[in-house]
Amino acid sequence: MKLAILPGDGIGPEIVAQAVKVLNLLKSEGAAIEMETAPIGGAGYDAAGDPLPEATLKLAREADAVLLGAVGGPRYDALDRPLRPERGLLRIRKELNLFANLRPALLYPELAGASSLKPEVVSGLDIMIVRELTGDVYFGQPRGIEVRNGERVGFNTMLYSESEVRRVARVAFGIAMKRGKKLCSVEKANVLECSELWKAVMIEVSRDYPEIELCHMYVDNAAMQMIKWPKQFDTIVTGNLFGDILSDAASMLSGSIGMLPSASLDEHNKGMYEPIHGSAPDIAGRNLANPLATILSLAMMYRYTFADIATADRIENAVKKVIAQGYRTVDIFTEGAQKVSCSEMGDAVVKAM
Ligand code: NAD
Repeated sequence: MKLAILPGDGIGPEIVAQAVKVLNLLKSEGAAIEMETAPIGGAGYDAAGDPLPEATLKLAREADAVLLGAVGGPRYDALDRPLRPERGLLRIRKELNLFANLRPALLYPELAGASSLKPEVVSGLDIMIVRELTGDVYFGQPRGIEVRNGERVGFNTMLYSESEVRRVARVAFGIAMKRGKKLCSVEKANVLECSELWKAVMIEVSRDYPEIELCHMYVDNAAMQMIKWPKQFDTIVTGNLFGDILSDAASMLSGSIGMLPSASLDEHNKGMYEPIHGSAPDIAGRNLANPLATILSLAMMYRYTFADIATADRIENAVKKVIAQGYRTVDIFTEGAQKVSCSEMGDAVVKAM
């Protein structure tokens, strides 16, 4: 396993260091893991004047998988747009052709109190959202702002080719096979031709997965159902725009941003794995951050890139155990629990493993 480790900015280095502890444990048990670290985001700008330095991109291309912390910080907000940390992130996703974004929304029963929804609605929640990441209205041409009939108009193009829909469909059906064998395709086929094609291709691909129960839902209804009774969903597949909104909403069902991992995959299951949260400049450098989203991202790497389900389960079970034992970083702390630092949480996971 050749891994590119890209800690990034803010709390990035602190949380990634905890995931590296887990990797070092596995290495000490005999796993053949090579790790190389490189700067990205603001750290890339500081090191090489570029949020995605050439050497970092080369390392990421040559690696089997990438583990990323987070990028960004107030220090870089005044830079020209192409030099900003977030641009490095967008570019690496595009350069590695990471078209399938996997965002689980899961909630450990012990943390149900952290959600803004009633505990019985969210306790035990386990949804996987597969969002298409490199197409749709974000990339479709033509786009622009121009003057028509004496006033400015802004326009974008919602566009999907059938091959783009087919490849993300295959990823989603494959994931649903490993989960509850239920897939919900979310679109707006009652109004949009682009969605009509999306739905038709989903139905075509479903013929190769007879075990999967496929359903279709309009995005407005999906948003409502997600708040009303989210546990009805197992795996959701949707386009870039709808997925952007739905996955953020779903992640908040669990109420704990420091707990949620993500994966972005290419056609060969190579992936970049990162927590969904940002660089948290307000707590950076204070050993306060919750490293569990990053450690759970590592578990996803084992599950999806290396198909090593046993190790993925082992890491996830260790996280469940430390939560059950009552260890809490500040973001998930409630009265009566044991408050721990970022590095103590990392150590607890290693011990639980
Ligand atoms: P953020 O996710 O960094 O922080 C939001 C809040 O959640 C903060 O109060 C923070 O302290 C807290 N938080 C986040 N992660 C935490 C963790 N692991 N443990 C404990 N608390 C945690 O979002 P923001 O404040 O809007 O953005 C800060 C910077 O991060 C900006 O520069 C932004 O552009 C960048 N950002 C990067 C990514 C990424 O790298 N993928 C994603 C979002 C934002």
